[in-house]
Amino acid sequence: MGLGANVGDVPRTLASAVHSLAALPGTQLRGVSRLYATAPVGVVDQPEFHNAVVAIDVPSGPDPATGASALLVALKAIERAFGRRARERWGPRELDLDLLVFGRVRLAIERPPAGRSTDPAKGALALTVPHPEARSRLFVLAPLADLAPRLVPAGWGETVASARQRQERLEGPDAVRPVGTWDASIERWTTTA
Ligand code: ATP
Ligand code: CA
Ligand code: CA
Repeated sequence: MGLGANVGDVPRTLASAVHSLAALPGTQLRGVSRLYATAPVGVVDQPEFHNAVVAIDVPSGPDPATGASALLVALKAIERAFGRRARERWGPRELDLDLLVFGRVRLAIERPPAGRSTDPAKGALALTVPHPEARSRLFVLAPLADLAPRLVPAGWGETVASARQRQERLEGPDAVRPVGTWDASIERWTTTA
């Protein structure tokens, strides 16, 4: 899962979101990336974001589509619980949880109603896994590479590390800065200078 936010006490929100993800039924927390301060992408005239990536094990479900849909519904519920309101796509938000990779699965499916956005402009969007933009976003690739540099997401034909390297050359070294390291004992990131 990719985590991002740029409204409110962001490091605190993201740490609580990690807790919420780990608390999903049948879920096991596998890893938490460093925390990154990142320049906004798409809508650039807004506050800096913070991003991280979390790896969890979830119950496999009867089939991948059902499992992935159920997880997306859970992610949307957590976003709402953290006060996310409907706004423009790529705009400011209290919490964004994206399903980046779901095992070896490649999916493009209609979502169940509970996973559907409240914004009618987004209502037709299918659930796509791996997340279609993950490969071209340094703010996703950098934290994902912390956890799984050698992973080859379904359909990519390259590792996370190599996609990250390419994207870093494109976006420059300052687009994404590590600012914290996850401390599991206190369930938050501790600041690095
Ligand atoms: P982006 O998807 O480009 O990162 P965003 O996160 O700003 O944009 P949202 O408004 O959070 O966009 O989500 C738009 C819709 O995308 C959501 O309603 C969600 O159902 C759908 N969606 C499709 N695939 C995924 C995925 N892999 N993870 C999360 N949401 C997805
Ligand atoms: Ca997103
Ligand atoms: Ca999203």
